[in-house]
Amino acid sequence: MIKLDNLSRQFRTDSVLTTALNGINLTVNQGEFVAIMGPSGCGKSTLLNVLGMLDSPTSGAYWFAQKDIANDSEKALAKLRKQNLGFVFQSFNLIDELTVYQNVELPLLYQNVPGRERKQRVEAILAQMQIAHRRDHLPQQLSGGQQQRVAVARALIIQPALILADEPTGNLDSQNSEAVMNLLCELNRAGTTIIMVTHSDEDASYASRTVRMRDGQIVADTPAEVKQYA
Ligand code: ADP
Ligand code: MG
Repeated sequence: MIKLDNLSRQFRTDSVLTTALNGINLTVNQGEFVAIMGPSGCGKSTLLNVLGMLDSPTSGAYWFAQKDIANDSEKALAKLRKQNLGFVFQSFNLIDELTVYQNVELPLLYQNVPGRERKQRVEAILAQMQIAHRRDHLPQQLSGGQQQRVAVARALIIQPALILADEPTGNLDSQNSEAVMNLLCELNRAGTTIIMVTHSDEDASYASRTVRMRDGQIVADTPAEVKQYA
């Protein structure tokens, strides 16, 4: 699904050059659940932004579904993003004027999903995220954890082929974290590819593979230990 070839991303600010990604080689197959870990500033978010086609590499190739998209136009990338990607970030970006239900329904309206199916899918994912009782509330009437669950529901209702998550449980208590991780796992079991940046060993334990970064490079890439049952 994804192949990065000697990919680098540099930032220049006030004549200072920062190499956020330095010669990244990474292959992710469809259906994998990859955790990306590493110290602050090592390039995790930059990698996720490049993977999410929100940022372009300075050099190297990004193969997505067998096509090098590293130099594609913003318009072409926007189309790929819309068709394939779901983002779960720490900031919620919910629309203040819309209710929980309307926020979650919005991506389906853009996709012209018929009314009856929309209703079914919105109600199902709200129940799954244990937020159905808040469906007619506005975002500011919710706790941070509830807002994050609504944001996750909205990102994932379009059933993207690839989910990119940047510390999806970063601001959440253990109960909310578990709801988010359980949803990600369920989607992964149904075939969705997931790439998730996390600081939490607990979250990483859900993944089938852990990639460790340092100073813009990948320093370890290990499959999850096969669980042994007595
Ligand atoms: P992480 O997510 O692992 O904490 P980042 O990918 O955010 O790391 O950042 C990697 C490096 O790139 C850091 O040194 C950071 O300061 C720098 N960086 C990230 N984004 C930008 C940007 N837009 N402009 C300049 N420097 C940036
Ligand atoms: Mg980061």
